[in-house]
Amino acid sequence: MEVDIHPAVDTGIAPAAADFAGGTLVCACATDPVTVELAGQTAHNHVCGCTQCWKPAGALFSQVAVIGRDKVKITANADKLQVVNPAATIRRHACKVCGVHMVGRIDNDKHAFYGLDFVHTERARETGWAPPTFAAFVSSIIESGADPERMGAVRARLMDLGLPPYDCLSPPLMDAIAINAARLSGVLK
Ligand SMILES: [Zn+2]
Ligand SMILES: [Zn+2]
Repeated sequence: MEVDIHPAVDTGIAPAAADFAGGTLVCACATDPVTVELAGQTAHNHVCGCTQCWKPAGALFSQVAVIGRDKVKITANADKLQVVNPAATIRRHACKVCGVHMVGRIDNDKHAFYGLDFVHTERARETGWAPPTFAAFVSSIIESGADPERMGAVRARLMDLGLPPYDCLSPPLMDAIAINAARLSGVLK
């Protein structure tokens, strides 16, 4: 049985372009869309199964990457943005008309990922973005209604696509979180 993960990976994953200069994210509104300019390439792109990230209609996973917040600029219709859940660590700014998440920001300057904004590059017309390289929070798709019986097939499909499945973040990102915690506590100088 075919398992669809996300439109950006289901028919083959496009490679990054060399010297990629970035592009503009556009929400799904036909008129007065919110636009967000990204002045550079993204990092740590991945598909994510958590219940918080924005997913296109029908997708099992979101696709989400990070970029330095100094490279992110809201260029049109910022008044249509609202924070989805102000209590969440990542304050995801969504278009309140079409629902697309345009940028997620962490305000806690002690957080391991402070300074990085979370973006969905499939919303840009430009191609050449860094491709996803792993799958995060895979088990969490069950919380969004995925059939637990299908998890084996989902993980097998992710492996086929070259997206190793993790039930938290990838090892380098989990290490970054632990390094940050160890520095804050003084264990790591
Ligand atoms: Zn919109
Ligand atoms: Zn997520």
